[in-house]
Amino acid sequence: MRPVERGPIPVLADGTTKTVKDYKDWRFDLINQIGKYCSYCNMPLYDSPQVEHVAPKSPVPGLALAWDNMLLACGACNSIKNDRSCSSATHFLPDYHNTHLAFAQAVRSHRKLPASSAAVVVPRPGLPALKFPKASATIALCGLARVEQTATQMRRASDLRWLYRFEACELATRYRAAWDALPAAFEAQFLACLHDLARAIGFFSVWFDSFYDVVPVKQMLIGAFPHTANCFPAPSYDPVVRVTGDL
Ligand SMILES: [Zn+2]
Repeated sequence: MRPVERGPIPVLADGTTKTVKDYKDWRFDLINQIGKYCSYCNMPLYDSPQVEHVAPKSPVPGLALAWDNMLLACGACNSIKNDRSCSSATHFLPDYHNTHLAFAQAVRSHRKLPASSAAVVVPRPGLPALKFPKASATIALCGLARVEQTATQMRRASDLRWLYRFEACELATRYRAAWDALPAAFEAQFLACLHDLARAIGFFSVWFDSFYDVVPVKQMLIGAFPHTANCFPAPSYDPVVRVTGDL
């Protein structure tokens, strides 16, 4: 899960701070700031990007319109998360933690899947055991490991995050193999193509994990996805803890 930097509240042309009467009025500010990706599953939002309240708005009226409480989400993540209680104390959140350190993707074979395989989000292997409950709570919050379990469910499935994530995993693996076989003279062109491909396919962490030891690709990916949080420092661009003692 890509960590993001929402940034300060947007300022209008006349220098005043933007205010809204409807939380949906933040949609294009969020798109401009963090890009057209679901903040939780990291799927590209080609259709109906939803403005999502990190902390549910119902119990705390002040959070209903607050810029600092907004992210973008796909329909699946937003509807599963709904008004369920959520905070940085109980969950790893992409606008607060370095969530790339908390989660990874895992491919699951499944005989009922038309595509025969799915990729789901799991706590990152090696994550300290004490942090597992918080990672698992976040995965459950948005249904990030959800794959339909019966043939009937599968026939009717509209939540295809597992399929798009799997396809991104396949592409990233294939392009990593191509990178490894690439003559050095073509690296710049390859990087430019990979930049556009990764932006179109989404799933930042899938690409970052596939190229975990390739410094120029890691640097490119951080720039390709706007306002990825500043917790991948040069010169290695390896992920580091964003919140000391937490993640
Ligand atoms: Zn999503």
